[in-house]
Amino acid sequence: MPALDAYLQEKLDALEEKQQKRRLYSTARSEGVQAEKNGKTLISFSCNDYLGLTQHPEVVAAARAALEKYGAGAGASRLVTGNNPLYDELEKNLANYKHCEAACVFGSGYLANIGTFAALVGEGDLILADKLSHACLIDGAKLSGAKLLRFAHNDLSHCRALLEARRKDYQKCLLVTETVFSMDGDLSPLEGLSALAREYDSWLLTDDAHGLGLLPPQTPAAHIIQMGTLSKAAGSYGGYVCGTALLVDYIKTSARSLIYSTALPPATLAASIAALDIIKHDKTLYKKPLEHAQHFTSLLNLPAAHSAIVPVAVKDSAQALELSQKLEAQGFLVAAIRPPTVPSARLRFTFSALHTSEQVEAVAALLKKMGVPCAS
Ligand SMILES: *Cc1c(COP(=O)(O)O)cnc(C)c1O
Repeated sequence: MPALDAYLQEKLDALEEKQQKRRLYSTARSEGVQAEKNGKTLISFSCNDYLGLTQHPEVVAAARAALEKYGAGAGASRLVTGNNPLYDELEKNLANYKHCEAACVFGSGYLANIGTFAALVGEGDLILADKLSHACLIDGAKLSGAKLLRFAHNDLSHCRALLEARRKDYQKCLLVTETVFSMDGDLSPLEGLSALAREYDSWLLTDDAHGLGLLPPQTPAAHIIQMGTLSKAAGSYGGYVCGTALLVDYIKTSARSLIYSTALPPATLAASIAALDIIKHDKTLYKKPLEHAQHFTSLLNLPAAHSAIVPVAVKDSAQALELSQKLEAQGFLVAAIRPPTVPSARLRFTFSALHTSEQVEAVAALLKKMGVPCAS
């Protein structure tokens, strides 16, 4: 057996070799879309804070008041003494906003997925997930013990073919997709998937991590389970599942990641309540990230953006890193996203309501100067 050090060194060297070694850099988000990194102030195109709510005065004030009133932490899991009254308010508001009967708030979106899959399906059941599903959907699916198959990205006919061939061999079946794909920014064919789920006696779980606050809520059919996160456009933290009262009642008594993990800090719940209130009442804010994204894609002659997320394809991981570093030297923070997180290397731009058109134009001009997007 190799010594631990030798084993780890070998693993790290292999990742370095494939340019898959990940690094953490201290990054302090400051005013608006600014971020401080390596002693430099950058304009960030890499935050999921699409509406600028992380620093919104009403959100911060609500969090501060809850912090003063209840202290820093929850002290226990929700089923013990951590179920602060703010949970009730947040879940009611969330269910109401999503046109659902009820909602359950988890520690994070990751925890919501991990807990929900295993609560709903297990051995002898089937999960059919879009090929580009987020890692925590896949982890949730694997942890459940159900058979996991992937259908080609947004491909309804492939999904149907898999259902036709395999559905009959399993008891329950869960289809899985994202409303807005996190690394590609495209939208899923929800109506088609919902119809397939109905036709093949299946349920559909939709991950709305990048939709909440940006896409107008739809009233879901009874076989649809909606999950999402409060950590992106809502600017706070925590995941959720919403649907019928029965679904939520069952999740609250079954999801292990809810039961065996400490509740969220009350200040976080208060921030989410305030953010959701802004999302619900502001009728123009939600349009701005998409407008900036579409301005950006038109400047670069890319296909029009479908959401606030725009991937710009590059040759390989090395080029993605190099371009990201060059942009940083010019004052822009843009994430290089590489395999194995995604099938092909890219720069991932996210747009915020707080960006200015000038900032969008400046980064587009810089990309053009650097020969991006590459002629193909
Ligand atoms: C970010 C994300 C999650 C996880 O949410 P967290 O609250 O950050 O844990 C889940 N699904 C998708 C598609 C995401 O982008």
